[in-house]
Amino acid sequence: MKNEGLIKKFWRVIYPPLLFLTISIIIEFVVMLGYMILLAADNPAMAGNVNFLVNTTTEWIMSHAVMLTVIAGVVALPIFILLMFGDRRRSIREEKHAEYTKVEPWKFLFIAVMGVFACIGMNLFISITGIINWGGGFEDTAEAIYGGGMFWTVIGVVFVIPVVEELMFRGLIYNRMKYYAGVVPAILVSAVYFAIYHMNVPQGIYAFVLGVLMAWVYYRYKTILAPVVFHVSANAISVVLTYSETFNKLTDVQYIIMCIVGLVVAAAMFVTIAKTVKVSVVEEKYDTIIIGAGFAGAVVARELAEYGNEKVLILEKRAHIGGNCYDSYDGHGVLIHNYGPHIFHTNSKRVYDYLSKYTTWYNYSHEVGANIGGRIVPVPFNINTLYEVFPEDEAKILEAKLLEKYGDGKRVPILELMQSEDESVKKVGQFVYENIFLKYTMKQWGQRPEEVDPSVTARVPVVLSRDNRYFQDVYQGMPEYGFTPLFEKLLKHDNIKIRLNADAKTAIELKDEKIYFNDKPFDGKVIFTGPVDEFFDCRFGRLPYRSLNFEWGYFEQDSFQQNAVINYTVSEDYTRITEFKKLTGQKVAGTTVMREYSVPYENSSTQIPYYAIMNDENNALYSKYKNLLENYPNFYLLGRLAEYKYYNIDGIVDKALELADSLLGRVK
Ligand code: FAD
Ligand code: UDP
Repeated sequence: MKNEGLIKKFWRVIYPPLLFLTISIIIEFVVMLGYMILLAADNPAMAGNVNFLVNTTTEWIMSHAVMLTVIAGVVALPIFILLMFGDRRRSIREEKHAEYTKVEPWKFLFIAVMGVFACIGMNLFISITGIINWGGGFEDTAEAIYGGGMFWTVIGVVFVIPVVEELMFRGLIYNRMKYYAGVVPAILVSAVYFAIYHMNVPQGIYAFVLGVLMAWVYYRYKTILAPVVFHVSANAISVVLTYSETFNKLTDVQYIIMCIVGLVVAAAMFVTIAKTVKVSVVEEKYDTIIIGAGFAGAVVARELAEYGNEKVLILEKRAHIGGNCYDSYDGHGVLIHNYGPHIFHTNSKRVYDYLSKYTTWYNYSHEVGANIGGRIVPVPFNINTLYEVFPEDEAKILEAKLLEKYGDGKRVPILELMQSEDESVKKVGQFVYENIFLKYTMKQWGQRPEEVDPSVTARVPVVLSRDNRYFQDVYQGMPEYGFTPLFEKLLKHDNIKIRLNADAKTAIELKDEKIYFNDKPFDGKVIFTGPVDEFFDCRFGRLPYRSLNFEWGYFEQDSFQQNAVINYTVSEDYTRITEFKKLTGQKVAGTTVMREYSVPYENSSTQIPYYAIMNDENNALYSKYKNLLENYPNFYLLGRLAEYKYYNIDGIVDKALELADSLLGRVK
């Protein structure tokens, strides 16, 4: 919905009265036709006289204008109610909907009094000032309203029309404007439109002032009943005064006094409402609050909501769900991964089966090329790569050596190869170190391969087979429709509420061994998946992370490079280029690519911490933060950031399921 264009927004605000007009015209047309047919049947002699039929029918229609409006209103009512429900559902979906405390019923009296007196005051004001004669048209409207007999006037003017107009102008127009632009523009636009709708200047001015007041009471009372009460009261007094001809009996002085009394009482009610009617958001009671809507948060939320029947609230700092796995369509219609390329792979059947409940898979095997001086070779370095970079005779000897030493199909970490006593093996190790690891690792980590945690470089070992795939896991693929739809499905559960753009730091506090949520003690569980140092204001110093800068490019060509990802292992400042359509299998004209630059993480407001820099010193600092939670047994750390670990998606889904197992007392 955030992507709605201006024209669509304008149309959504403008169309309700047009819809009503269309319904009215259709009903008028049908009734007219019916009346004409009956008329012709009743007066066979005049049946051929078109003038007679049209004039008599028009006259009848004019004198039954209110009745026809009532019929149109009754037809339109359910449509407007359905549209309002649609808007509400959308607000709920987008977490823009709030439930409010209810106003005591007797306080609606203020509105009724305000409606009555505002009507008297404004009517007399319009008469006294001569506004009533501006532009003309007022008399015709009055004739149409009161010309059709008391029954229809009362039903129509006092009941049906106010309800229909309130649903249109406040229920739909005001609410939609409020959604797009906030309260003040919503009050003004709905009132101006309400004024224009009345089609003559005196009534327009009257309608504008009352429109502002009705939108305002709606804003204060948070129920459509409020402006309906106002509107019904104002119209009721108007009808009573017209039939009793009260105004005609007043002297000029009485006229002025009544006008002032009307306006003053209405103003007094305004002040009374402003002072005494206070509604607040009803905060639901949650069993668990989860911070972060990435895989860690989303999986555990779903498990607790579904199998523990727990009410779960997710607070997510960003404007979307999915954490770093979030994907979306760019301006060219290409599905991109906004925070870097993500490919799902796992050996865990549990994880694969679990995610398969929320997505089908595009069968994709990730193959990465390394650009070594303009030549693209497969990584991880494997037997195919060996034959590409060494002369064939030499490659044959090296292959035999490697297989003899480690065995067919083995995965050997580069650091291990380099330590080999065997000169041939060492030679391969040295080559791979210099051409695949050294420069890339320096760019990625700002450190040499031997300085980073050995588990990091071991993620991309030398593979003693001819398998060019980046991962050798049993299950691999991409969510068929993208990661974001997977998350939407995962989080779609009645027990889960998500609040976006919500930084937990402003809502959750730990004090004196108690968790506070919005300044009130919270007895439930809190599962935190963000950076733990920042939660504690980095009081022991910042935990070091690497961040990334992304440079995006779009080309009007079918293909940019031979693989979805090409690593630049000996040249360039960026580490890799990703071409997204090759990852996702999307069939689309043109192609979007992204260059990735790794940088130190220094600024939490402009950067995202992507990679924990694991080493003894940093792990010790992490432990200091973790120890701060010793006295908060209901506060859990889960996820790549919160645990300061280098988890893949499958690792984190597995951890989240394990936490859910333990919280739900489930035996795996
Ligand atoms: P995140 O996805 O980071 O989610 C944490 C969420 O918490 C974020 O949405 C954040 O906004 C929110 N948050 C943080 N602090 C607060 C706060 N104070 N208040 C409210 N919300 C907060 N894995 C693979 O399996 N395959 C891959 O190909 C792969 N590629 C990757 C590429 C890159 C560039 C990176 C960085 C990671 C990659 N990963 C990959 C790893 C994968 O991204 C992670 O395993 C996964 O995203 C971890 O999920 P998470 O929920 O722990 O963290
Ligand atoms: N690596 C490298 N050259 C490559 C691929 C990986 O030096 O062509 C090293 C580098 O240190 C990198 C680590 O191996 O950080 C892990 O690579 P992986 O592809 O798993 O990194 P990620 O996709 O998580 O960024």
